[in-house]
Amino acid sequence: MSLKKTRVFFLKQERQYHEHCCVPMCTSSSKFNGVLSFHGFPRDVQLRKRWLVNIRRDKFTVTAHSKVCSLHFTEEQIIPPKTAVGKRQLQKGAVPVLFQWNDYSIPSPRLSVWDRVSTPEPSAGDEQLMDCTPAADHDYSSVPEPAFLDTAVDKHMQLEEKIDALMKEIQELKLLSTFGIERFAQSDVNIRFYTRFPSYRQFMIFWELVEPSVHRMVRVSRAKAAERMNEAVTSVRPTHMRQSLQPIDELFLFLMYLSVGLKEQDLANRFNIHTSTVSRIITSWTNYLYTLLGSVSIWIDAEIVKAHLPDDFKDFPDTQVIVDCTELKCQTPSSPLLQSEMFSTYKSHCTMKGLIGIAPHGPVTFVSSLYEGSVSDKELFRRSGLADLLTEDMAVMVDKGFLITDCVKCKVYCPPFLKKSSQMPAPSVLLTQKIARLRVHVERVIQRVKENKLFDSVIPLSIAGSINEIFAVACLLSNYQNKHLAKAWVK
Ligand SMILES: [Zn+2]
Repeated sequence: MSLKKTRVFFLKQERQYHEHCCVPMCTSSSKFNGVLSFHGFPRDVQLRKRWLVNIRRDKFTVTAHSKVCSLHFTEEQIIPPKTAVGKRQLQKGAVPVLFQWNDYSIPSPRLSVWDRVSTPEPSAGDEQLMDCTPAADHDYSSVPEPAFLDTAVDKHMQLEEKIDALMKEIQELKLLSTFGIERFAQSDVNIRFYTRFPSYRQFMIFWELVEPSVHRMVRVSRAKAAERMNEAVTSVRPTHMRQSLQPIDELFLFLMYLSVGLKEQDLANRFNIHTSTVSRIITSWTNYLYTLLGSVSIWIDAEIVKAHLPDDFKDFPDTQVIVDCTELKCQTPSSPLLQSEMFSTYKSHCTMKGLIGIAPHGPVTFVSSLYEGSVSDKELFRRSGLADLLTEDMAVMVDKGFLITDCVKCKVYCPPFLKKSSQMPAPSVLLTQKIARLRVHVERVIQRVKENKLFDSVIPLSIAGSINEIFAVACLLSNYQNKHLAKAWVK
């Protein structure tokens, strides 16, 4: 093959290869259009970059076949062919500027630039003029539709974020404005303060125990509660007040009443409910917990007590129960004239007395009924029925007032300094000291029940009917509230 023939062959090859425009949305191809010219990318890196930015293909890999059709250049940028068969060339430094997304028109600011280009100064080269075309770099922002869409989407997303933040804020505020257990879920200190449960987790463990049968709770009717409160139920209820609480918040309210000793009016304000509703909740929950917790036998067998006996008791290994008394003040209906809050200081009240038995390792194992305050410790012990549970092989540890030796079959550990015995042998003195030391621990345990602030104040008439149950519930609850009692005891 001669050299001439080879050249013809290559020319044919070249003609067969159809060029395509690589600008997005442009379908120009040399196959169908002989009018258009196709221009390769410039070698100059900066200029090439400006091409890519303008045609919106930043990540595009430029090859020798990558072409941009003449549709994207202004007339001024294209140099007409010098001969009839010659190719059209681009001005030096020309950058594609006309696209479908700008309607193949140059935005107004650039027009002025081209105006300047059309009147070139002889001293400045074309390239320099083209290069200082500032608008070419701003093609992105000069295109109206997609930019507008982008802004709209951005704005939409910003608004959504703002809405999310506000919703979160509203929920937090709602939580703060409504008094309930959920509000204190993150604060064990507050849980301890309001419920006497050591932590939110412990409270929830107790709730899981109670919850399955909550729906079977016998509710005190509104009329009955009103009767108890000795007042007519006000039919007008402020609209902002909540009609009812979630069961878990009712329990929370009940525990607050018991532990913190908050007044019904105070609770009504905190929970945003009527005082009569507070009264109903307290009565219902007292009865419910009394039945539920009371159904579990709390008396512990001697072997189990021995198995858990703390080291402190090694000198009194047969101790089955440690006994103490507590007193409650209860409002009496004897003087209706003085029932109003105005005369609260003159409210008449009676004292009631109950007996609590505790196993050496801490749990409450016996709760008596309440008796009139005038009853002696001995008489209270006799009436409580605890003596029936004690056998000869057991021992009961009592406080100084309990002179019960003659009414039980079992051994009695009692601080003997109040005993009538005139002389005390040396071993007995030691024993006395030991018992006294143990009683400090015991009193600490009993204190936990007594620490329920409700028992510090006069129990109002509205719940006076269930005082016996309230006392029992407080004692039984202490077993659930002081789960680590045994551990603390050993220390
Ligand atoms: Zn094109």
